[in-house]
Amino acid sequence: MRIHNVQPSAALSDPGREYRASEPSVPLRCCLRKSLADEPVWLFRYSPSSGKGPYAEVGPIFTHVDCPATPTLDRLPAELLNAPRILRSYNAAGQINDGSVVEPGSFDQVVNGLFDDPSVESLQVRSLSHGCFFFAITRA
Ligand SMILES: [Zn+2]
Repeated sequence: MRIHNVQPSAALSDPGREYRASEPSVPLRCCLRKSLADEPVWLFRYSPSSGKGPYAEVGPIFTHVDCPATPTLDRLPAELLNAPRILRSYNAAGQINDGSVVEPGSFDQVVNGLFDDPSVESLQVRSLSHGCFFFAITRA
């Protein structure tokens, strides 16, 4: 699988972005971990590319202002998957194919199962409580 994170530069396209000098323990979509208290972050509107047309959604995400690390993008980021998450699959037209709640420890199995369906092009991992986009997954 290939993980798709969000670069901090994406914040610059949202004129309503908010700078937060300290916002500890928010999920960062750049390096795919939780923020530390001394790390400045952007909070901004973002639309993941897997949903298209009526399925394109815009929602709030956090990234570092200056990301200090490049995440590993060939396996799931454990720090953001320590709680139940929503996993949605999308077809090539950008329409939602399926959605489910996935428990910690089951992500690899569910991801591989969804990609067994040839009509599935990408997956989105989202917060269960808030629905916010975390990251996308495609086949390697
Ligand atoms: Zn980062």
